Amino acid sequence: MSREILDVPLANGTPGSQHSVRIIRYGAADARPKAYIHAALHADEAPGLLVLHHLVEQLDAADARGEIRGQIVVVPYANPLGLAQFVNGDHLGRYDLASGRNFNRKWPDVAGELTIRLADRLGSSADDNTVLIRSTIREILDERGAGQPVDSLYTALAREAFDSDLVLDLHCDDEGLMHLFVRPEISAELSDLARELGCRAVFSQGSSGGSTFAEASVEPWIRLAAALPDKVIPIGCLAATVELRGFIDISDEMASADASALLNVLRRRGYVAGQAGLPPAALCEIAGFDACDVVRTPAFGVIVYRAELGERVTCGQPIADIIVPSSLGREARVTVRARTDGLVVTRRLKKLVAANQVIAKVVGQKPLAHRTGYLLED
Ligand SMILES: [Zn+2]
Repeated sequence: MSREILDVPLANGTPGSQHSVRIIRYGAADARPKAYIHAALHADEAPGLLVLHHLVEQLDAADARGEIRGQIVVVPYANPLGLAQFVNGDHLGRYDLASGRNFNRKWPDVAGELTIRLADRLGSSADDNTVLIRSTIREILDERGAGQPVDSLYTALAREAFDSDLVLDLHCDDEGLMHLFVRPEISAELSDLARELGCRAVFSQGSSGGSTFAEASVEPWIRLAAALPDKVIPIGCLAATVELRGFIDISDEMASADASALLNVLRRRGYVAGQAGLPPAALCEIAGFDACDVVRTPAFGVIVYRAELGERVTCGQPIADIIVPSSLGREARVTVRARTDGLVVTRRLKKLVAANQVIAKVVGQKPLAHRTGYLLED
């Protein structure tokens, strides 16, 4: 068995309590290639927890057969701080209650410092440069101060992830179909991930503006190459945010199949011995953020959906009625319509909404004139 389990303590907790983040490592800590997969960075998003339960079982079996090659790091619950945030019986896992920070924003930006340190040190070999870039990323992260507990969590995860060849951040949406977020520079290389998982949408565009975990993993390579165009700098990290459908889409059958899909992605890249075969056919085209109609409610009220999740709608078709409780009769019903032809990829699980909240995403193929700003919600 090559498996190792580490519990990394987080710094600066309150007296009498100690959080730690668990890291399961297959293969040696210096073995390459290195894959990193974690679940529930938004701590209330449970589908990834079950997928990694199944993936660890599958990797244990592969390990027992002597099939592990390189290094695979699995963090089965990425956010022990968020896991503990039960408030009056409700689990609040999206934001750090101590700092107000969304757990998937403001990940360490090492690109600037990397450029300063490496401008004169990179050579003509892509392989040598890759090794130097990875070790410098680790060096920069090791120098980060402990800060608040959430900063300590960020550093612990980034130290394992940012020097990896492959990074998968498992999330879920509210009500949602399987979909991915990936940078355009690497979307072709990760097309097998979308196909293995049966993604119904793949969003690919430049920065979301939020420095998500997956973006922060790959951006140092992209920005370093842009800052030093005369150097040989490959993209040494493929990273994606995986949205494993919706909060309540949880079963052993689905999670086991999703884990098998991830194992196939690992096998195809040589992390696990054996043939992965060809991935299934793609179920969608890659779409830019600006091709996604982020449907917001104009009023406070109760959502009555008129389009199903997974339904193909046309521009102008009603998505939902919002019933405004302070109005009567027809006045109470505000219809919200699609502004593009496309697929309803997400909806809202809880049906009482405040004005301007997102109630659906409809992904089409054409850029939308009205779309400004970023796709990601707060
Ligand atoms: Zn999430």
